[in-house]
Amino acid sequence: MNELGPSPLAAGERNLSVDEARAAIAAALVPLARSESRELPLAEAAGRVLAADVISPIDVPAYDNSAMDGYAFAGAALAAGAPTVLRAAGIVFAGKPFTGAVATGHCVRIMTGAMMPVGADTVVPLELAQVDGSPESGLVNIAPGVIRPGENRRRQGEDLARGRPALTAGRVLRPADLGLVASLGMTTLRVMRPLRVALFSTGDEVVEPGAPLPAGCIYDSNRFSLGAAVRRLGMEVVDLGLVRDDPQALASVVQRAVREADVVITSGGVSAGDADYTREILARHGEVGFWKVAMRPGRPFAFGPLRRPGSEAPSWLFGLPGNPVAALVTFYAFVREALLVLAGAAPAPLPVLTARSAAAIRKRPGRTEFQRAIVEPAAEGGGWQVRLSGSQGAGVLRSMSEANALVVLGHGQGSVAAGEPVAVWLFEGLV
Ligand code: AMP
Ligand code: MG
Repeated sequence: MNELGPSPLAAGERNLSVDEARAAIAAALVPLARSESRELPLAEAAGRVLAADVISPIDVPAYDNSAMDGYAFAGAALAAGAPTVLRAAGIVFAGKPFTGAVATGHCVRIMTGAMMPVGADTVVPLELAQVDGSPESGLVNIAPGVIRPGENRRRQGEDLARGRPALTAGRVLRPADLGLVASLGMTTLRVMRPLRVALFSTGDEVVEPGAPLPAGCIYDSNRFSLGAAVRRLGMEVVDLGLVRDDPQALASVVQRAVREADVVITSGGVSAGDADYTREILARHGEVGFWKVAMRPGRPFAFGPLRRPGSEAPSWLFGLPGNPVAALVTFYAFVREALLVLAGAAPAPLPVLTARSAAAIRKRPGRTEFQRAIVEPAAEGGGWQVRLSGSQGAGVLRSMSEANALVVLGHGQGSVAAGEPVAVWLFEGLV
């Protein structure tokens, strides 16, 4: 592909709010083609993105059945204002349909889930019936007013009618979805192929964990936190390791990344002070914008499409800040949802919890701040309370590790007083 087409991503520096950056990313993305899907057994489909609507081949339930343990009979037999007395004429179990029909003045003992016999449309629960004699042949008394015609019958197709969509394409498959599909008698699902995400860290000072740590150096943590975040989305990581601050090394890793992956995530090396060759090299491969997003942590950010030899679809570059917390926060703020969209998913908006801040938080308007925090049930008055989890320095991973949430203070928002409600992104589900 030679032309990436007109793009909203002007190269060069741009100052953007978090919302503007999210919108610019969303406007640019082109998801994987639906043709890149395959059929998978249900047991392997959890967490994958559904590629085509699932149309129910059957009615659910497949037949009228009893919602209760009790006696099935024709509701028309119910007398108004007087007891109804019916003669029991057999018993019907789940999985063993009744062969005869229920005659007028009769009923049959029925188990929950058993098929409604011909001639019956109502079930009186066991505890509302007085039985005189054997349950299968005695007299069943129903007091007036305890039951109405048609009650306790589950109708064929009431949960899902044959030919209706049970699940729609773009869904990230959850346990209940797989149960639902199995309940339709299906054994496989058409799912998108997993997104391939190349990941590398940059910086001469960054060292592979396990190696000795020379003076002035730091172990690479970003590849591990970001790699885990990507894998938790059900995607494949192509680990391209550590890359020196060197044009040749960067050029060759970018070449390899676009050959192998749909997305390239880098950390470090996109700050204003960083060497210009990053921009030059990326500019050679595509149309990458370098943004100053009004947020904390995580200001420098690069995003845009890179050309892939022999492919129509580009590889999407996300250049994250090197600071370990900033790298993760920008991942959650911009990359997570973008990856889901690229993978063919239709992600639901992230649920945002409102919690009372245990203490005052200083904040200045004009940028979005993400603060590491611990959300817990409020000691008094119900609801949730949130407190910051420690030092908020952009490199302090410990307070990120101890946190279970991010407090998100919006662009226009000022300082927060103790007890004031704040918006919170829970890590549960997010990470
Ligand atoms: P940079 O964005 O390259 O200017 O890096 C900002 C800060 O993050 C510097 O202190 C780097 O040492 C640190 N840093 C960059 N990459 C990593 C990494 N992969 N793991 C841990 N720290 C990093
Ligand atoms: Mg660096």
